[in-house]
Amino acid sequence: MNTKTLLHIAVRNQAIYIANDKKIQEVTNTLNKTTSVLLANAQKLGFTFSEALLRQLNATTPTYKNEVLEMLKEVTGTKKNWTPLVKGWDVPTGETVLDHLITVFANAIGSKKGTTLPCGHLIPEGTFPLDRYNGCPFCGTPFEFGEIENYGQGSKLKVLELWTNEDAHAYFMDLLQSKTALDATQVDSLKQLLTIYTIPEGIKIGMKETTMLVVDTLVEKEEAATAGKLFKTPTDILRYLWYKHTGFLQIIEPKTIAKRQSKNAAHIHRILDKSASAKLKSKADLKLKYSRQECRRVAQWLNELPMKAAQACEIMHPKRGMWVRFIRALRLAEYSKKKGFENLAELLDVFYNEKYTVFQGRVNYYRLRQDANKTFSMLKKRPGLFARSLFSNMLWFGAEETLAHFREVLDKIPARLVLTLNMYAQNYFNPNMQRSVKPLGGTNKRIPANGLLKLYNAEDLKAMQEKIEQLCIEAIQLRFEGQENNNETIYIGEGLYKIPLSIGDRSESVQDLPSALMGTRFPLEGSTVRLFMQWGQGLPAQHLDMDLSCRVAYPNKSNFCSFSKLNIIGCKHSGDIRSIPNKVGTAEYIDIDVDALARDGAKYVSFTCNAYSNGSITPNLVVGWMDSKFPMKISAKTGVAYDPSCVQHQVRITQGLAKGLVFGVLDIEAREVVWLEMSFVGQVVQNLDVKGVEVLLAKLDSKMNIGHLLELKATAQHLKKVDDTNVADEVYDRKWAMNTAKVTQLLVD
Ligand SMILES: [Zn+2]
Repeated sequence: MNTKTLLHIAVRNQAIYIANDKKIQEVTNTLNKTTSVLLANAQKLGFTFSEALLRQLNATTPTYKNEVLEMLKEVTGTKKNWTPLVKGWDVPTGETVLDHLITVFANAIGSKKGTTLPCGHLIPEGTFPLDRYNGCPFCGTPFEFGEIENYGQGSKLKVLELWTNEDAHAYFMDLLQSKTALDATQVDSLKQLLTIYTIPEGIKIGMKETTMLVVDTLVEKEEAATAGKLFKTPTDILRYLWYKHTGFLQIIEPKTIAKRQSKNAAHIHRILDKSASAKLKSKADLKLKYSRQECRRVAQWLNELPMKAAQACEIMHPKRGMWVRFIRALRLAEYSKKKGFENLAELLDVFYNEKYTVFQGRVNYYRLRQDANKTFSMLKKRPGLFARSLFSNMLWFGAEETLAHFREVLDKIPARLVLTLNMYAQNYFNPNMQRSVKPLGGTNKRIPANGLLKLYNAEDLKAMQEKIEQLCIEAIQLRFEGQENNNETIYIGEGLYKIPLSIGDRSESVQDLPSALMGTRFPLEGSTVRLFMQWGQGLPAQHLDMDLSCRVAYPNKSNFCSFSKLNIIGCKHSGDIRSIPNKVGTAEYIDIDVDALARDGAKYVSFTCNAYSNGSITPNLVVGWMDSKFPMKISAKTGVAYDPSCVQHQVRITQGLAKGLVFGVLDIEAREVVWLEMSFVGQVVQNLDVKGVEVLLAKLDSKMNIGHLLELKATAQHLKKVDDTNVADEVYDRKWAMNTAKVTQLLVD
C-alpha cells in the first residue's frame, strides 16, 4: 500500500519511486527483457526514464515493473472509456435543429417509422445519420464503446527521474514547511504521506492550513493534547472545526456556501430548477452536532490557549456569529463550569459581555478624522493589517507619509505578503483596470477600481506603483542579506524567468501527471490543440450532463464552440453527451486548428468545462489538452481521439463549488497554452466573460517570477552567476522549481 501511494506521489513529481527492498539484483549496464518491455510500454503512454532511473528499474523485480506500468496507466486513464458521441467527429454529421424538432414530434405522436434505440427514442427516417453515432443523437445516451486505438503519437516524452525513500521523506518535509498555502495536489499528497511518515518533533509548520491537516492526523491517532499545542489563536480552532465540518481548509462563511450551492442548482428550464430545495439541503448540512468526547476536546483546547481572554475575543469578533453557533453546539458553557476550565470560563464571560475592544474599529475612527499620527501608530502595532490596508492608506493619506511609516515595520511583515503587495500594485493603481478577486469559496469577480484613484493623475499613480516595487526589492534584499551564505556561485536556469512565483492563486484541481505551477506556459509543438474531458467513471448509468467548450476571443468580438454550436471556424466538437453509461464514464473532445484561427485574426481561446445538469462539477472529471508535432488521429470507427502520449497537461476536479471552470488559455500569436484556473458562474460557456480572462492573464503577468527573485538573492549575497551547473555552488533549475513547496523556502519567513 505504501509503495503504491509513494509511486503515485512520485509521478506527480515527475519521478518513479523505488524502495530499496524492491531491488533483487545489482545495478548493471545490461538491460533485461522485462525492463525493455516496460520502457516500450511507458513510451506508448508518453513517458521515458532518465538513465539513473532506468538502471535502478532494471534491478527491480518483474512484479514491481508491472506495478510501475499499472500506475502510469492509471494516471493516464487508459482504462477509462474515451468514446465520444460521434464516430469520426472530424467530419461534421450535418445534424440540424430540424432533425431534433422532427424527432420530438415523432416521439410525441408515437410514430413507428424509423429506428427505435435502446433508450426508447424513435429516430425518424431521413433525420440523423444514425451510422455516425455511438449513441442516441436525440438524448445523448451512449451505447457503443471503443478502445483507445492510437498510442505513441506524441512528439515530446516526459522524462521521469528516480525517487528514493529519502526523496519522498524530503518532499514530505517540504510540504509541511511550505510558506505558501498548499494547492489541491499538494494537500492530497500530504494527506497520504501523513499516513506513512510520523511528524518530526519540533517541526515548524509553514502555514495554518497545513497545520489543520496535521492536527487531523494527530486527533485520529488520539493525540489531541499534542494537537492542541499547534493552535495559537481561537481562529486556528475555528478553522479546524470548519475543516472537519465542510472539508474546506479556509473559513468560508455558511451563507457563501449556501448561496453558491443554490446558484449551481438553478437551471435554465424552470421545471428543473432545484434552487430552493438545494438551499434547504445545504442549510441542513451546515447544522452542527458533536459527541461528548469532541466537545470536551475543544473545551480543553480553548482552555489551554496561550493568550489573554480579551485578545482572544478580539480575534473571535469578526466571526462572532459562527462562534456563537459553535459554542452552543459544543456545549462549552457547561464545560466552563467544571473545575480546571477556569480559562474557558473567563473567555466566555469576556466574549458574551463584549468586554473587549475591536482594533479595526478604532483604526477606522482615527482614519476618518484624518488623524495620520494616531492611525499609523496603531497600524504599526499590527503590521499584517497595515500591509493589507497599505494601498488604500496611500491614496487616503498620501504615498510619502504612508510609506515612511510602513518602512519602520517592513522587517515584521512576512516576505510572501510583501511580494503579494508588489504583485497587486500594478493592477490596484490602474484606474482603468478592474481587479480580479476571488472571495473564499466564491467565483472570480471583477471589482471596480478604488474611487480615490480619480484624485491622482497617471504619473502620480505610476510613481506609487514604482515605490511599492522598490519597497519590495528592499524588503527581499534585506532578508537575503540577513542570511549567512558562504557559497560563491549560483546557477539560475533560463526557464525560471518564465515561471511566476505562486502566491495568491492556488489551484483547486488535482494534477496526477507531473504537476505545474499556475501560470506555466506550454509551448505548442504542432498546430492542432485537442481538448478532452472524461467523466463519470465508477458511477452508475444516469443523466449527468457535463460540457466541454471553448471561447474564441477576437479583438472586437467573440465566438464559442460547444454542444449548441459543434462547428465554428477553427474548432470542431465531438458531440454532446448528456447521460453517462454504467461505470465506464464517457468523453467529449474539441479540436482547435491554430493556423485557421490565426488566419481568421483570433487572439485567445479559453478552454472551459461546465456542469449542465443541476449541481456542481462532478467528481472524477478529468480535463486537459493534447498537442503533438505529428497528426493526432481520430478513430473513424468509434471516434476515440485520446492518446495519452500527446497529453500536455491534465487536471482532475475533486471537489469544489465551481459550476464552470476555465482550465487553460491558448495564446494564438505566441503559440503557447497558459495553464490557469478560473471559475465562473453559469451553465453555459456564453456566460464566461472574455474581459475576465484577460484580467486574469494580466494578473499572472504582473507576478514576480522565480528567476527575478533568485537574481535578488545573488546580488544580496554576492553570488556570481555561472552558466555551468557542475561548477555552481547553488543550482536552481526547472527540476528544482517543480517542487513548489521547496521554492517557497526562498521566501525566508
Ligand atoms: Zn434517446
